[in-house]
Amino acid sequence: MKLDGKVALVTGGARGIGREIALLFAGQGADVAICDVNIETATATQKEIEELGRRALSFQADVTVLKEVENMMNIVLDNFKHLDILVNNAGITRDNLLLRMTEEDWDKVIAVNLKGVFNCMKAASRSMLKQRSGKIVNIASIIGIMGNAGQANYAASKGGIISLTKSIAKEFASRNICVNAVAPGFIQTSMTDKLTQEQRGAMLANIPLNRLGVPSDVARACSFLASSDSDYITGQTIVVDGGMSM
Ligand code: NDP
Repeated sequence: MKLDGKVALVTGGARGIGREIALLFAGQGADVAICDVNIETATATQKEIEELGRRALSFQADVTVLKEVENMMNIVLDNFKHLDILVNNAGITRDNLLLRMTEEDWDKVIAVNLKGVFNCMKAASRSMLKQRSGKIVNIASIIGIMGNAGQANYAASKGGIISLTKSIAKEFASRNICVNAVAPGFIQTSMTDKLTQEQRGAMLANIPLNRLGVPSDVARACSFLASSDSDYITGQTIVVDGGMSM
């Protein structure tokens, strides 16, 4: 199988896109650790991974807290002995127009979406650099490329992920570690359930492939970037949006 013998860590892996990535990787032969702020959903997803015949770990860890991330990484390495794939998927929205956006909502989104990626890459880097191999996949968004009214904090965090990805790709290339990003468009999860029927209709009108995305559309792109199929690709952002942003 594509990811046989590999160990992966997926942040925000309890539900939505992260859960789909974790289950696809397990189905492709990887042992998978997930972290989330909600331990009940994380434990349920851990069980689903184990039902696929793989080893799994779940953590209640907040990606904004470096100490929690480092503790989690140590436990993953103690249990699984190596870490081959890191998917930085945890993300949140706190949308509002700039005039109404609070400082707290700005700081929170930057902390989870951008600092969280920094924390996890930093914590994973020691073992990946030592083993001279690794795949890091950061979940950005087409909003980080296009911008969006009412999402200044989210757009800045996701645009930041794309340039952070390129920088670390350059830093880690000599150690055979590939660092890439996936930028989803409109994917049906609880994050987009918040949108009104009218907003959904407007989105759909701008999607050439004429359907909303589903988590597996994103998970398959992540699997490509996590596998040896993409060994000569680094610093790139793969857009998964049904053609919406072209
Ligand atoms: P969901 O809200 O469904 O899932 C996000 C997950 O991240 C949840 O399990 C959540 O935990 C977890 N999480 C939130 N904050 C933290 C934190 N501080 N530490 C650890 N885990 C945390 O979102 P999606 O599955 O839709 O989104 C996944 C990623 O894809 C995000 O980065 C998002 O920005 C990106 N994306 C999504 C798009 C979409 O259309 N859905 C489009 C473009 C990008 P909890 O369950 O406790 O809330």
